[in-house]
Amino acid sequence: MTAPVNLRSTEDYRKMDAAHHWHPFTDTAELNAKGARVFTGAEGVWLRDSEGNRILDGMAGLWCVAVGYGRPEIVEAVTRQLQDLPYYNTFFQCTHPSAAEFAEAVTAVAPAHLNRVFFTNSGSESNDTVFRLARVYWDCMDKPSKKQFIARRNGYHGSTVVGASFGGMSAMHGQSDLPIEGIHHIGQPYWFGEGRETGMTPDEFGRARARELEDKIREVGADNIAAFIAEPIQGAGGVVIPPASYWPEISRICRKHDILLVADEVICGFGRTGNWFGSDTFGIEPDLMSIAKGMTSGYVPMGGVMISDRVADVVIAKAGEFYHGYTYSGHPAACAAGLANLRIMQEEKLVERVRDDIGPYMQAKWASLGDHPLIGEARMTGLIGAAELVRRKEPIERFPDAGTTGTLCRNLSVENGLVMRAVGDTMVIAPPLVISREECDELVARARKTFDRLADHLT
Ligand code: PLP
Repeated sequence: MTAPVNLRSTEDYRKMDAAHHWHPFTDTAELNAKGARVFTGAEGVWLRDSEGNRILDGMAGLWCVAVGYGRPEIVEAVTRQLQDLPYYNTFFQCTHPSAAEFAEAVTAVAPAHLNRVFFTNSGSESNDTVFRLARVYWDCMDKPSKKQFIARRNGYHGSTVVGASFGGMSAMHGQSDLPIEGIHHIGQPYWFGEGRETGMTPDEFGRARARELEDKIREVGADNIAAFIAEPIQGAGGVVIPPASYWPEISRICRKHDILLVADEVICGFGRTGNWFGSDTFGIEPDLMSIAKGMTSGYVPMGGVMISDRVADVVIAKAGEFYHGYTYSGHPAACAAGLANLRIMQEEKLVERVRDDIGPYMQAKWASLGDHPLIGEARMTGLIGAAELVRRKEPIERFPDAGTTGTLCRNLSVENGLVMRAVGDTMVIAPPLVISREECDELVARARKTFDRLADHLT
């Protein structure tokens, strides 16, 4: 018999948690002072907590639950897989049906020149794989000096040593002496936060930020650079949607200087931007692509690196074995979850839905928040968006001590039955791709009510 999930009281769970559970990205003292929120169930876009609250998950977990919660198709596929073959590895010339099928299925929806996938267990591991594979590629190309990387300020690429080093988060760099040597950062194409006051148009600003890449390449030397890595839309950095001029210029610069272009699609992949990948949305032709999150909708942890023929052909021919892999690379349960997830996305035409139907509907609704006195900009592509909190709109003035108002807003939002995340004073959302029109209306109504309550708190 299945054990009931909620055997003990909320207080019991909080006590156990406070004593023994060290949470990621959490101030433990602050958490323990108020106690963790205990989630016990979920269905569609709705979360349930141990106190009976029903909360609309505007963040799809951590940007990952693309097909929504409670999908029996995935549960059944994973259960069947665990009964047939709960584990075997994919090292040393072994495979299993789900790994082979998922590799074929996932490359079929990727850009045409990406025909191989290396399985990992997370986005961070994917980016560590990118680091190693790009270096191996340049060794194979007899250009062993090309070993350094360029990434962006405020980018997020994970928490492992390489992931956090690729990332441009100063708080993360401030702990454990990161980034590691040979990883450089350039500016982000953040129009509202950094471009507005330059006197440039968004497209001029996008080009200027892209040209920082060329400046950095000249400074470090193209002969020393393996790759440039970036998210098509910067997610954890505050849903930074680049001006249209940005990616074409970045692509041109990478080609001109023979630098590999790596798209970190961990958030943007699997329909989030209204196409299978953010690279499709922005016309990027990546040499390597990191994936995770929507790959299994988070039902089982999984990540991967999609590899272009350009890189794969050389490494396979010249290096032979790539001495790299994780015990759980291509885990049967993860592959089964991924296959069932992909099947749902295809059968329910979720990507087309985000591009042509629910995406445009939600974008218009979300944009309407721009008339709120506390919102300086409300932007969204596909189903990933942000609202910028401002103290004054004409002329725009941000709140002092960035993050304080955002955190207050995030807390009010959850109290109000909506999960929104705060990045400084930027509120971000990325709901499950299955969200209905009525739920979009509800999400935006709750967001507006939250901003109203925030205004009351601030006066
Ligand atoms: N890359 C991007 C763009 C991400 O947003 C994240 C996580 O949010 C990661 C990498 C790291 O993924 P994971 O937390 O699965 O290691």
